[in-house]
Amino acid sequence: MSAERIYDCLVIGAGPAGSAAAIEMARAGLDVLVLDRGEFPRFRIGESFLPRTKRAFRRLGVLDKCLALPHARKIGVEISLGDWRHGSQYFFFRDVFGDGDKETFNMARIHLDQMMMESAREAGAEVQTSCALRAVTRMEDGDVVVDSDAGTVRARWMIDASGQATTLARERDQRRFHSFLRNVAYFEHFEHVIRPSGKGQNCFALVIADEGWFWMIPLDDTRTSIGFVARESLHRTLDVPPEDRLRWAIARTPVLRERMANAIGPDKNRVISDFTYRCDPFAGPGHFLIGDAAAFLDPVWSTGLTLGLLGAEQAANSVIRMFTGPLSQRTTAATERTRHHRWTKRITDRAFRLVEGFYDPAFRDLLFSPKRTKGLERAFITLLAGEIDSIPFGVGVRCQALRGLCAIQSRHAVAARVRPFKIMLSSPVTMPSVTADVAHADAT
Ligand SMILES: Cc1cc2nc3c(=O)[nH]c(=O)nc-3n(C[C@H](O)[C@H](O)[C@H](O)COP(=O)(O)OP(=O)(O)OC[C@H]3O[C@@H](n4cnc5c(N)ncnc54)[C@H](O)[C@@H]3O)c2cc1C
Repeated sequence: MSAERIYDCLVIGAGPAGSAAAIEMARAGLDVLVLDRGEFPRFRIGESFLPRTKRAFRRLGVLDKCLALPHARKIGVEISLGDWRHGSQYFFFRDVFGDGDKETFNMARIHLDQMMMESAREAGAEVQTSCALRAVTRMEDGDVVVDSDAGTVRARWMIDASGQATTLARERDQRRFHSFLRNVAYFEHFEHVIRPSGKGQNCFALVIADEGWFWMIPLDDTRTSIGFVARESLHRTLDVPPEDRLRWAIARTPVLRERMANAIGPDKNRVISDFTYRCDPFAGPGHFLIGDAAAFLDPVWSTGLTLGLLGAEQAANSVIRMFTGPLSQRTTAATERTRHHRWTKRITDRAFRLVEGFYDPAFRDLLFSPKRTKGLERAFITLLAGEIDSIPFGVGVRCQALRGLCAIQSRHAVAARVRPFKIMLSSPVTMPSVTADVAHADAT
């Protein structure tokens, strides 16, 4: 890296979104520099992927590398209330409309992110870790100058993939938080969590409470990621230290207690804020925003990686189109900025609607209703599989119908109302003690 060199594109962040963009551009022959302030391997949350994510990995040429790492198969989603009052509802990706992938996988991000960063290097990108972007000096189409820990960097374009740091958006005061999707997540990795046999085998388990929801994600043959996503109101008022709250919530939730009866894991949990936001506009002079640097969405349907990888593909192709091919066919900066902004807005709007639906009590009534329409259910599963960038007409119509049904349900209760399971009213049962030797095994 030298002050005289002018890169075609500077990418901030070597997470999955930044690395994916770098792989695309480097393979197209562009001169790419990736800066990441962290040191790899590093821990990240976000371990459950969608069938659409799998297709994005395949397209990038890294799917075989993913599957060579420790992972667990994922064929669907199991949803239950915390006290199992309505049993479990299952949604299998085999029911997805169209010929997309019918299953996918989960894995610890420490493995995935390291592999993605190395793949960017192998593709020809220059990757510097432990090197933060400190300040933006110039940000114009075709002319970007920034200060980094390694000195001044010049490039023609910049892709901001800095995750929740939202480097550019913060500087420009562009980040807007969602009005009610404001949660906090408490999570850890455990050994010996009981994995269901029968229908729930190989499913992502989602357990619903009035105060939030839990995830149970098998990561490999033995390890399971457990998380409790709580409403901000609980986070603010609960008289329990944040690093003890996962254990606090598990002790009060029968489904979790049962599956974790023999679980071994750290005593204290990790904590991360889980506030949904978007950084509109998603492109501007000299730059494109992708991944969490563009928008972060409550992770209930595991959409984060899908949005990050698809956004990376869009932004990278925008940069590639401006540089390669005969001069007469090259697109202009204004065209590409508009294209990226519109695409990101459309996809983000769809994903936001999908997540907002989960928090609608009417949707939960329909979820646990014994009378479900197969066609509507399959359309919903198609979205759950992450097929949100090109929704077939029939799926779109059915999803509208599902939204209409929710609106009717909230006014007229055509299906029985589902009484929420309340953690705060549930008596705690002491869990067996844990050993701390697996604590933060990934935190290297
Ligand atoms: C509780 C929770 C659960 C989740 N569960 C899921 C899930 O199951 N499935 C899913 O798909 N998604 C999930 N997500 C979302 C997922 O974690 C993110 O969408 C994903 O990590 C975004 O990837 P990224 O590449 O955009 O950002 P990151 O992976 O965050 O990478 C950003 C990189 O930028 C670097 N960086 C930041 N600032 C600078 C700077 N100034 N200079 C240089 N480098 C910088 C950082 O060091 C980092 O390496 C979850 C999120 C949360 C909070």
